[in-house]
Amino acid sequence: MRASVLRKGSMVYRDDVPTPVPGEGQVLIRVLACGVCGGDLHFAEHGAQLAELAEKMTGAPTLTDGLDLDADVFMGHEYVGEVVAAGPGTEAPEPGTVVTSMPAMITAGGMRPRLYSNTSPGGYADFMLLDAALLLPVPDGLDPRLATLAEPMAVGLHAVTMSSIEPGTGAIVIGCGPAGIAVIAALKAHGAGPIIASDLSPARRGLGRMMGADEVVDPRTEGVFDAWERTGAHPTPVVFEAVGVPGMLDDVLRRAPFAARVVVVGASMEPDAITPYYGIAKEISFQFVQAYTPDEFAESLRRIADGEIDVEPMITGEVGLEDVESAFADLGDPERHCKILVIPVAEHELTAVRTTAYPSNESRS
Ligand SMILES: [Zn+2]
Repeated sequence: MRASVLRKGSMVYRDDVPTPVPGEGQVLIRVLACGVCGGDLHFAEHGAQLAELAEKMTGAPTLTDGLDLDADVFMGHEYVGEVVAAGPGTEAPEPGTVVTSMPAMITAGGMRPRLYSNTSPGGYADFMLLDAALLLPVPDGLDPRLATLAEPMAVGLHAVTMSSIEPGTGAIVIGCGPAGIAVIAALKAHGAGPIIASDLSPARRGLGRMMGADEVVDPRTEGVFDAWERTGAHPTPVVFEAVGVPGMLDDVLRRAPFAARVVVVGASMEPDAITPYYGIAKEISFQFVQAYTPDEFAESLRRIADGEIDVEPMITGEVGLEDVESAFADLGDPERHCKILVIPVAEHELTAVRTTAYPSNESRS
């Protein structure tokens, strides 16, 4: 089968990957669509550094469990596919059922993330294996392309849930990349407001407004905290930092209002100096968040399926398995791209999935 693999920092197309065989508890999935995640871009560039940080923190290579970065690495964790076959003795939805799952696997030691592997293909492939127990059916009629956004949007839902922000309380969102956009959409759905965001890119500022921000400023023209003050809104906003480059946290500490809570969504791999005085003088709380729970993943899929969140404007491109490397490069330009999907199947097959594999509304009622 075909796959695009990470080899020494670049995505390489292969057509000689063995099709995986489902074992007990596993299901073979034919991938219909898989979003390219910023985390994958980051891993392609800084995989070794990430592995080193995880190992320093835990004393074991938790994130990259036995991963050999000198060998081909399978990635792709924002996938939607159709059930092909189940492993021996495994209960699974009928073949043809469109499903997704959070990128995890159930092991003897509990649930573990499943983002990178030397042996098991991910979503940048024709086929992949998923744990039957983690499968979620994609609701009838939902375009598989839109359903791939359940994963990245769950990140925003988790950040907002962890922040405990009350409906009616305002928020500042710094950065309108995929993570910032997911936070904005979750804040809007939660009833938080006003939502004031910032981004350097005009295209992303537009997307931020489309996804629910009341105002999105260009920080070169007006700082986001100045824009917040201009609204005159009370009480103190919750601040979401979704840029993740060194220097951002100190800047936020310096500018944030008294008693603000700062939720850190953007992941910087670099050491990043802060000035504790700013935080102490204003009694700022810092909170770091990552990923999401299984319930949040399911809720994220439901929100997209029910039309509570329209993720279509986020999808800015589609490529085949041969062109994943170019998608990785193109995502560097925020003016052109937010989310690129890898579509291993032909367009007409995807359309066929949408119209024939789902029961029609009449036959369901
Ligand atoms: Zn992701």
